Amino acid sequence: MTSPIRVRFAPSPTGYLHVGGLRTALYNYLFAKKHQGAFILRIEDTDRDRFLDGALESLVRSLEGIGLVPTEGVMLLEDPNISERAVSRHSDTYPGVSEVGSHGPYIQSERLHIYRKYAEKLIASGHAYRCFCSRERLDLLREKQTANHEAPKYDKLCASLSSEEVADRIAAGEPSVVRLNVPRERGDIVFHDLVRGDVCIHANNVDDQILVKTDGYPTYHLASVVDDHLMEVTHVIRGEEWLPSTPKHVLLYEAFGWEPPIFAHLTLLLNPDKSKLSKRQGDVAVEDYLSKGYLPEALINFVAFLGWNPGQGSTKEVFSLSELAEAFDFAQVNKAGAVFDTRKLDWLNAQYIKAMTVEELTRKALPFLRQKTYFVSAPDERKTDDYLHRVVTIGQERLTVLSAIGDEHTFLFTEPDVDPSLLPWKGNSPEETAEALENAKRILTDVTDSDWTRERLGEILLEAAGEKRGDFLWPLRVALSGAKQSPPPQDIAWVIGKTYTLSRISSALESLT
Ligand code: GLU
Repeated sequence: MTSPIRVRFAPSPTGYLHVGGLRTALYNYLFAKKHQGAFILRIEDTDRDRFLDGALESLVRSLEGIGLVPTEGVMLLEDPNISERAVSRHSDTYPGVSEVGSHGPYIQSERLHIYRKYAEKLIASGHAYRCFCSRERLDLLREKQTANHEAPKYDKLCASLSSEEVADRIAAGEPSVVRLNVPRERGDIVFHDLVRGDVCIHANNVDDQILVKTDGYPTYHLASVVDDHLMEVTHVIRGEEWLPSTPKHVLLYEAFGWEPPIFAHLTLLLNPDKSKLSKRQGDVAVEDYLSKGYLPEALINFVAFLGWNPGQGSTKEVFSLSELAEAFDFAQVNKAGAVFDTRKLDWLNAQYIKAMTVEELTRKALPFLRQKTYFVSAPDERKTDDYLHRVVTIGQERLTVLSAIGDEHTFLFTEPDVDPSLLPWKGNSPEETAEALENAKRILTDVTDSDWTRERLGEILLEAAGEKRGDFLWPLRVALSGAKQSPPPQDIAWVIGKTYTLSRISSALESLT
């Protein structure tokens, strides 16, 4: 029997979830789901200089909030799913999270004793050595190598120290690091990558990487290899920026005598001008997109297509998370960088908005409406469920992000200031305009409550307009909205109701005299 698929998303908590990180997490999640495997969330927090209070919790919250709930590893304490799972341990250092699964701890800063043990093993077997070189010496070495047009690399000076000398210098309190002893004679290091095919790097081009820093903390390289092995990770799916590190990892697997996992390196996300996706050119944090009113489902759908497509000539673009899991395959993951085009995201978001029920859209849009002053100051009768459902009904078709709800339709919440010069239809006189408005007022006064629906009002007004649509409907629409552009008058009339409709027509008529 082949062993079950186990993948991990292993972020370093830097304060927010980057959209590139979301893509990595998503591909891991999809691959695990497709193969009924485990999706592990491991936290790589061994870089103490980058420690930020609360960053880990907010990262886990973003991930879970968007629907990528791990099956194993770190979870939020308040996670509703967690009560159904056996919590295996609580984090010692992070009060907001706990862990599920038998391969923990899943937070690297809580695994230091493990890395220490494996670093000692490597030293004992000659695959690693202690290095006492000062910063000054290393800087000088780098300068010399750069001047000679050589790739900067440690020159193995400390690799030949005797174990007695090493012991003496440690006893004397001299600071040291542990370095990987790259066997230069090893020649080509070849590994297979699910995205890039065979990758080959010569051992001469691999530096004697620091594995343990002077503060005793492991570097990413040692910690991730040890963890991936101990956590029985079968596939390492991560960003392309880690590709140059992989030969070092392959050497570590060899040094330990472990079988390496299968690697898949995902290409960079690019700005539309093909530069690397950067904060300067737009938002990169998942939270920024959610707070602008992009739906988690749309963001997931969008991110899935950054470097993947369903193939086989499929033109389907709207995919739910489970449909994505079913369709996902590394054979369809691209080698070329993926352009982060927010116009596509807008389009997808609009598709999800259109597909929602009015009730659901109202519920999701309400938190955004509550932040608008025109809504806050609106009378209570314009905040009822019925009223808001009508507002949402006429806005749904054109809405791209939830945060824009109401912005083009403020006249549904406050009485508009109508500019009388806007009321006449092309070349019409104020008298002709007043006549059209009087006519509309008379017709609308006679409409019964049961006929005051979007459809009926549309029929009644179109019939009344006859051939002269613009002459009749334009002044009415402006009278009701005060705006150059707005939904058709029947829609506005339906939302604001008969009383306000008639009073707005009367005000417009007064302004014409
Ligand atoms: N901690 C690394 C990061 O922040 C993880 C790299 C990997 O997946 O091996 O991206």
